[in-house]
Amino acid sequence: MIPVIISGTVVTALRRANRVVVVTGAGISAESGIPTFRGAEGLWRNFKAEDLATPAAFARNPRLVWEWYDWRRNLCGKAQPNPAHHVVAAMERFYHHFLLVTQNVDGLHSRAGSRRMVEVHGSLWRARCLKCGDTVELPMTSFEDGKAVVGRVSSRVARCLEEENPARSPGLQPLPTHAACGGTLRPAVLWFGESYEPAMLQQVFTALEEAQVVLIIGTSGGVALPVDLAAQARQAGATIVEINRERTAVSRLAHERLEGRAGEILPELWRRVQVGHLTDEIRARGRHKGGRLMIGIAGPPGAGKSTLAQALKAVLGREAVVVPMDGFHFPNARLDALGLRARKGAPETFDRLAFELAVAELRATQKPVSLPLYSRELHEPVADALTVPLATSFVIVEGNYLFLWPEVRNALDLKIYLDCDPALARASVIARHQQGGASEEEAVRKFETNDRLNSETVHATRGAAEIMIRRNAAGWTVERVGGT
Ligand SMILES: [Zn+2]
Repeated sequence: MIPVIISGTVVTALRRANRVVVVTGAGISAESGIPTFRGAEGLWRNFKAEDLATPAAFARNPRLVWEWYDWRRNLCGKAQPNPAHHVVAAMERFYHHFLLVTQNVDGLHSRAGSRRMVEVHGSLWRARCLKCGDTVELPMTSFEDGKAVVGRVSSRVARCLEEENPARSPGLQPLPTHAACGGTLRPAVLWFGESYEPAMLQQVFTALEEAQVVLIIGTSGGVALPVDLAAQARQAGATIVEINRERTAVSRLAHERLEGRAGEILPELWRRVQVGHLTDEIRARGRHKGGRLMIGIAGPPGAGKSTLAQALKAVLGREAVVVPMDGFHFPNARLDALGLRARKGAPETFDRLAFELAVAELRATQKPVSLPLYSRELHEPVADALTVPLATSFVIVEGNYLFLWPEVRNALDLKIYLDCDPALARASVIARHQQGGASEEEAVRKFETNDRLNSETVHATRGAAEIMIRRNAAGWTVERVGGT
């Protein structure tokens, strides 16, 4: 993968903003394997989109048009949201004022979790009644197992799946009708020659008026709307950032251009915004406290605690040290010397003992502190000493269970819980064991026996956190700052 080059200006703009608008086009879905439906790659039975996506085409042959949309729903239903879709959904959860404006009709944003969203071109997953004007949802099919779905319209999709024969002659199936009034249903998408809904456009323009940052991702040069939106937002004072593999008509209006795949750029950009946000919070607390700040990162194995700690250190610089707490223990003599008796058994005791030792040393001495660390498995020093100089303002400790015990909780000035989607955590731990030389089978067994936390412990640790971070396909997202 080519390293992603991201300007610091974009990161700063997103860190400072609380009103963000994201505009997406076909490019973001192309990375999920969805064709643009324009030009040669969008051909279906030698029809171009322009021949089918019009009111006249529907009037002439509604069955043919429905069949084309069934085919497209089938394609889109099989595709998966990519990391860029997940970052956009994470941004929505993060910013108080957020709007996603998408030109895409494939439903991938909604499947990634986006809700505050305007689909300006409609959706393949809705139909509109020509008689009463109501909109009905077309349920998403589970395309992986190809099961039939319930409902008048979606049964067409199921039939399409069963036969999987694009050459099948059209015109034999009944047209989908609105159950409530019997009117004919048409796809609720914007067709060639139709205008945008005024109320919807108004909502978009209001959001753009107030936006501080507008990201324009994967829009093609062929549609006028993104250019109009960018111009409007720029005039209103927003920072315009374009993410695209190539220059487009939007480019000349963008303050910053990030060139490349959205699925690679967005997660890296978001990671940097989140780390920046966290370090802002850490620095603010450090100023408030005026001394050494003890920061704890807890979370399940595989959540990426040490990666997060190292990313924070990279921003905080020489003022910070990272002290890993789990997977290590200390010789009994040393624990005895500090009045801390080793309690062998559950792995969580290592966290506690290691932490108590570190705190005792840090608090007791006016000199630079050395923390010898021992590998639990090798029983020999992995590092002679980790020196914590007096100039250290931020001590970042990380371990699975750090917040379980009152004395540890009280010693921490900031408690961060890093949560992780279980499948992702599992995969990370297994990969780590394999890197350590374990076979796949051994790695899985190690995970099952050593690296699974009981849910009560997880609940208690989570409950004590002040900052909640979630790691998923989008990377890290700060979900809550403050008390429980
Ligand atoms: Zn109706």
